[in-house]
Amino acid sequence: MKKLPLHIKVIIGLVLGAIYAFMSVKFGWNTFTLNYIKPFGDIFINILKLIAVPLVLFSIITGVASLKDIKKLGRMGAKTLGLYLVTTVIAVSLGLVLVNLYKPGNKVSDEIRKEFRISYELWQKSTPGVQKLDDVCLSCDPKNADLVAKVQKKEGNTENNEWVTDKLMKAKNNSKNGPLQPLVDVVPSNLFKALADMSMLQIIFFAVFFGVVLVSIPKKKAKPVFKVVDGLNEIFVKMVMIVMEAMPIFVFALMAGQIVKAAGTDPDKFFELLAFLGQYSITLVVGLAIMIFGFYPAIVALFTKKLTFKSFLQGIRDAQITAFSTSSSVATLPVTMRCMHDNVKVPKKITSFVLPIGATVNMDGTSLYQAVAVVAMAQLHMVDLTISQQLVIIVTASLASIGAAAIPSAGLVLMILVLESVGLNPAWIAIIFPVDRILDMCRTVTNVTGDATVATLIAESEGELDEKSEND
Ligand code: ASP
Repeated sequence: MKKLPLHIKVIIGLVLGAIYAFMSVKFGWNTFTLNYIKPFGDIFINILKLIAVPLVLFSIITGVASLKDIKKLGRMGAKTLGLYLVTTVIAVSLGLVLVNLYKPGNKVSDEIRKEFRISYELWQKSTPGVQKLDDVCLSCDPKNADLVAKVQKKEGNTENNEWVTDKLMKAKNNSKNGPLQPLVDVVPSNLFKALADMSMLQIIFFAVFFGVVLVSIPKKKAKPVFKVVDGLNEIFVKMVMIVMEAMPIFVFALMAGQIVKAAGTDPDKFFELLAFLGQYSITLVVGLAIMIFGFYPAIVALFTKKLTFKSFLQGIRDAQITAFSTSSSVATLPVTMRCMHDNVKVPKKITSFVLPIGATVNMDGTSLYQAVAVVAMAQLHMVDLTISQQLVIIVTASLASIGAAAIPSAGLVLMILVLESVGLNPAWIAIIFPVDRILDMCRTVTNVTGDATVATLIAESEGELDEKSEND
């Protein structure tokens, strides 16, 4: 067992965790699993989050301060944000192409789709300010009176998922804020609150500010501060390495706990929607796989001299497996940084600046997922979205993915905005909720691979791929 490479051990942990979870459900060990196995998965996520916040803070400060030249920082910042935006738009567009070609929402029986359509029409009529998107009206047709009554009865009986209801309420309250609120939110009024809330954009803002000022004060004063910050950074990197060694066991507990927890949620609804959820998941997973195993390694191989398709994927494998196990780009960040530095040979001053920003603002998988999910659900409700509505989806899904926190299920919550932007019912997020966790695992791998790709391209464009920088 000792000789096996870490990623194989982690995969074994994942598979054993899944097998154990099914046994637990079958033989009724769920209480034991939730009480004594799941907590170790929670401990794993806690440790990664614990490391991620100070690591982002100290690594960005050292990254910015070791660039020394503010002009270079500006150039790299612009390139980073530009590339992140381009990859996000490519991902959403790929999602839209796939969902329009494969039409997962149309592959469900007409009977079920008619019910969904009627429920959409009833919602549209009873919600003030929501425009009608087409001239179809099944609920107006007397022939459908029975179906309308059935839908009304069903909706009266459905108990709303507490989690979904809570998120919808919160989104309603937030929509009262002004258009520049997101900008205001980037600037923290209290550093310690930002750290405690894990507000990554605020932490990045402070760290860049601190790093820039650090290089502008006299060298004699700056040097000891830099040394302390760099030393602290080193400590957190080392912590990641230690946690990684125990990852196979943690991952076992995480997987077992998640599956057992999910098994307790509304199985009836799940089976009724199985056909739709299956087709939708296939479309999404194909899109994410094209990005992870096609697009990213291909552009890295194309634009860099030293890396090949295979060497890039091999280099970031541990980060991908961690992303899959944790469903959180931020929790994966420490591992991504280690892989990029040790294996892909991107210097620390680039990884420490590009990757934390990427984990927060660059979520290609999340934006692709939002495009696929919104259009597929519209198809399920027999709503044909026009080209201009799909363009609105590109814009809102890209913005929503920037705003999404890099934690499990963040993309699902932000989908409320995308649905509202095209006049659809935000409560539809409940439809895809049952399969969201497993798809979250897949889209987080895409998010992390996208960040790694951009960091590699930036290093190549700066002529620093595989070069030893002074603080490496
Ligand atoms: N879990 C994803 C991430 O951390 C975000 C999402 O929910 O799509 O990257």
